[in-house]
Formats: sequence, structure tokens, C-alpha cells
Amino acid sequence: LSDRLTETFRNLRTKGKLSAADVDQTVREIRRALLDADVALVVVKEFTAKVRERALGDEVNRALNPAQQVVQIVNEELVGILGGEQRRLQFAKNPPTVIMLAGLQGSGKTTFAGKLAKQLEKDGHTPILVACDLQRPNAVNQLQVVAERAGAAVFAPEPGNGVGDPVRVARDGVEYARRQQHDIVIIDTAGRLGVDAELMKQAADIRKATDPDEVLFVIDAMVGQDAVNTAKAFQEGVDFTGVVLSKLDGDARGGAALSVASVTQRPIIFASTGEGLEDLEPFYPDRMASRILDLGDILTLIEQAQQAFDEEEALAVAEKLANEQFTLEDFLGQLQQMKKMGSMKKMLGMLPGMGQMKQQLEQFDEREIDRTEAIIRSMTPAERRNPKVLNGSRRLRIARGSGMTVTDVNQLVQRFDQAAKMMKTVARGGVPNIPGMGPV
Ligand code: GDP
Ligand code: MG
Repeated sequence: LSDRLTETFRNLRTKGKLSAADVDQTVREIRRALLDADVALVVVKEFTAKVRERALGDEVNRALNPAQQVVQIVNEELVGILGGEQRRLQFAKNPPTVIMLAGLQGSGKTTFAGKLAKQLEKDGHTPILVACDLQRPNAVNQLQVVAERAGAAVFAPEPGNGVGDPVRVARDGVEYARRQQHDIVIIDTAGRLGVDAELMKQAADIRKATDPDEVLFVIDAMVGQDAVNTAKAFQEGVDFTGVVLSKLDGDARGGAALSVASVTQRPIIFASTGEGLEDLEPFYPDRMASRILDLGDILTLIEQAQQAFDEEEALAVAEKLANEQFTLEDFLGQLQQMKKMGSMKKMLGMLPGMGQMKQQLEQFDEREIDRTEAIIRSMTPAERRNPKVLNGSRRLRIARGSGMTVTDVNQLVQRFDQAAKMMKTVARGGVPNIPGMGPV
């Protein structure tokens, strides 16, 4: 998706006024890019029609920079479809809050149940997982394992009772949770490989029996064109209040996000981004949109970067970002390049997903860079590569060596940790392909 849009916007960028032909050309490219990303055809059609109409309208004609305005429109429309604002979980006024999961087999429901429980626990809740997938022989056990890893309680039918009734288990589970004062109940349900009437009825019955505060439809972000039909089937069969996009790690291009959000008009609430229990993030519509669209700024960045720091170095940094092995040594190298390039704020502001970091860096001036450099220079190469080894006495030594205080050293390490974490997120979310920078 990103690749082609980059090209399109680059072409637009060089133009002053836009002709109808320019707009058509652009819309064609956007269409092709979205289809490439497996956004469903109906959604692509509706989207491009809207963009075309607005791009030919007055707002673009009157704009100082029409090309920029088109990019703006595409961004707005994307954010709009993806739900606009970030939506949070809704809790019941009278606990327990009941959260039911639905979705095809393998979509990631059970894994998500564990992730959500873990996160809720961190926020001080006392979730319990209810095992209502009685279809697959091992499903109850899988949920028990996940719950144990998450440190959450489980409600499951007694083993050896034959095939239990999932609706009854769900109802008993909520009852049990209420008695045991669990404030949140997460109901894991069965899925089939394809949409199937019996499964749908079972899910609908569980919903009726437990009256959940949230029904979350979990969908694998890699499914592509099928996303629309699956989502529609679940909306008609069970209906849901929100969507969880799973497996957004790997090379998922996010097409499913656009399709599902557009067709069901339901908000995407979470992005599940890995097999680990901590790999769960809130879904931010604007970030998803800018993951696609931050490209214009990247081009500017590259133009500037080419004067100050050579392409090979940029490539190396991009590679490190992707491989998540960004170290203080790299940080030092970058600081030096940034001094050459002028303001650090400006550079970070031009990297996608760096908005938050930019804010932190607003107070960060050039002298600060010098101080930072001094501290990093006082570290041994091993310490730069792995700041985790920095214990108290090492920090004291570094502070003395650099003429700074231990607090300064602590702050730097903390800031670096934050930066590294953020970069990891960017890299995991897939930094878009940038021409001239190679695959990232
Ligand atoms: P369920 O059948 O809907 O309960 O799906 P599971 O939770 O059992 O997940 C199916 C498979 O997908 C398992 O192998 C999980 O480890 C894997 N999985 C689930 N969520 C994610 C994710 O966000 N990223 C990746 N890479 N794998 C995931
Ligand atoms: Mg499961």
C-alpha cells in the first residue's frame, strides 16, 4: 500500500495546480494501492468516489498547496472510516462487566482473552475467563494455560462431563463471577473455520443468555478480501459492539481494518500484535491512517538527509529499526548527524509515528544534545550496546566521567528506553517502504 501511494503523492507534490486529469490519475493509484492491500472492492469504490468528489471540489482549488490538500483529504477520509476517535472499552455500571468474544477459529480469540485479562489486571481489575469453546477437545485446556500465564482466574466446565452446553457454561460463569466478586468476565467462544449457522446460533444464544456489555469480534488482519463477508456474517448472526484486529504484526497491511470498519460501522478497539501476552495495543485510527500517509514527510526527510547524512547510514538505521536492535551507539551516531542537519525536533517530527516523541523533544535543545553526547561517550561500548547493565556504580562512574549528575545519566537512559520502545512500535507496525531506503 505504502509504496505505491508514496509514488503517487510524490508526483502530486511536484505540481502546483491540479487538473481533473491529475485527480483522476491520483484516485486511480489510490484505488490500486488499496486493492493491493486487500481492502475489499466495495470499500475501495466508495472510498475513492468520496476522495475524488472532494478533490475536485473547491477546498482543493482554493488551497495554497492543492497536492497537500489532496493528501489531507485522503487522510481525513481514512481516519473517518477507521472510526475517527480512539474508542475505549465500555464498563458496566454495576459489575461484573461482561465481554464476549466472537470470531472464526484461529482468529485469535483465546490469545486475546489472555492479553486482555493481563492488561485489565494491570489496571487493577479482577477478570475471570470463561471457557465456552467446548467444540475443540483441547480448547478449555488452552484457555486454562493462557489464563495461568496471564495470572487470571478461569471458569470452565468440569472435565469428563461429556460435551457440555456452552450457553449454560456462559451463564454459570457470569453468575460465578458475580458471587466471587470478579469485576470483569471475558467469555471465550468456539469458532469454525468458515461461517456456519450452528456456530452463529450458539454465539447468539450466549449473547442472549449473558447480555454482554461488549461483544468483540476478533478478526485476523491477514484475511484479505474475506474480511467483509466474515464480518457481515457475524454482524448479522451475533452482532458486535467492537472489533479486535489480530495478527497485525507480521506483514499484515491493514486492509482488513479498512474493510471491516467501513462495512460494519463498528469501531476497532484493539490491535493484537504478536503471540506474546503483552502484544496488545489500543487501536488508534489516526495512527493507522498516518502509517499509510506519513509518506510525504518521509520524502522531505530523505531530501534533507541526503545532503547531511549519506544514504547508506540511513539504510543502516532503518534496518536497525526494523530489527529492533537500536542501541545507544546508534543513538550517538544519530545525534551527530542531527547536529549537522539542524534541529533534532524537525527530523524526528518527520519520521512517521514520532509525533509523541517530538512533543517530548520540544524542550530538547542543541546544548542538550552536547550533554547527551558527553554522557554516551563516557560509557563503555558494552554499556552503549546494552544499557540494561547500567547499575548504580556504573552510572556514578559515567556521571563523573562526563561532568554530569547521576540524575542526568538516569534521565538519558530513561529517554533512550522510551525512544527505543517507540521505535520498536514503529518498526513492528511496519515502517513503510521508502524508495531509495530499501525494504524496511
Ligand atoms: P482462536 O481459535 O480464535 O481462539 O485463536 P487462538 O487464540 O487460538 O489463536 C490462533 C493462533 O494464532 C495461535 O497460534 C496464536 O498463537 C496465534 N495468534 C493469536 N493472536 C496473534 C497475534 O496477534 N499475532 C500473531 N503473530 N499470532 C497470533
Ligand atoms: Mg480459541
